Amino acid sequence: AVRVRGLSRAFGAKTVLDGLDLDIRRGEFLVLLGPSGTGKTTLLRILSGLEAPDAGEVLVPPRRTTVFQEPRLIPARRVLSNVTLGRRRGPATREAALRALAEVGLADKARAWPATLSGGEAQRTALARALVREPELLLLDEPFAALDALTRLRMQDLVAELCARHRPAVLLVTHDVDEAVRLADRVIVLHSGRIALDRRVGTDHPRHRDDPAVLALRRDL
Ligand code: ATP
Repeated sequence: AVRVRGLSRAFGAKTVLDGLDLDIRRGEFLVLLGPSGTGKTTLLRILSGLEAPDAGEVLVPPRRTTVFQEPRLIPARRVLSNVTLGRRRGPATREAALRALAEVGLADKARAWPATLSGGEAQRTALARALVREPELLLLDEPFAALDALTRLRMQDLVAELCARHRPAVLLVTHDVDEAVRLADRVIVLHSGRIALDRRVGTDHPRHRDDPAVLALRRDL
């Protein structure tokens, strides 16, 4: 679903991405881990089309969508209208949005205003807005970072379940190793503008702490 070859991007004298190669298969849940300033957000922005590379080949599917750390809802529109935003009006769009809201557990919030939602509900609205676009590539930029620990766990489970059902290619950026291990089929780490570590965690493995793939990953990090 994604093919990146020789991707480079610099800001002034600072090279952030330096000839990076990356493939993501359809249905694969890829987690990008790494410390601050290593270019994770830059990579995501390039894949989403928000930013252009200096050099390299980037092949991404046309239907792709990003969920950010903040839900970015429009306060003056109700939840349902936030989900249908930018789409053609009509009963089919409305139906699809209501279905997406039901999928994220917000069927009863369709007419609510964003200001009345909890952080978790707002982020679930953002997720519904992403899902209703039926993305082939779903880009998630630390989508749970602003949530409390319990809500974060619930959201992780929800995203895992939704992605297993819809099977987009997923690229999730996080600082949280536990989150990476819980969700990933594969974990990559950026260093010096390239992929320094690329580990399959494996969907067949139980995600236990003593899972050899998980142990190897923790050791390498
Ligand atoms: P974090 O985990 O803190 O979000 P990150 O790995 O996502 O970090 P990026 O946001 O991609 O890192 O930034 C990588 C580097 O590029 C940083 O040093 C940052 O200061 C620089 N950078 C990013 N965008 C710009 C920009 N528009 N102009 C100048 N420098 C930038």
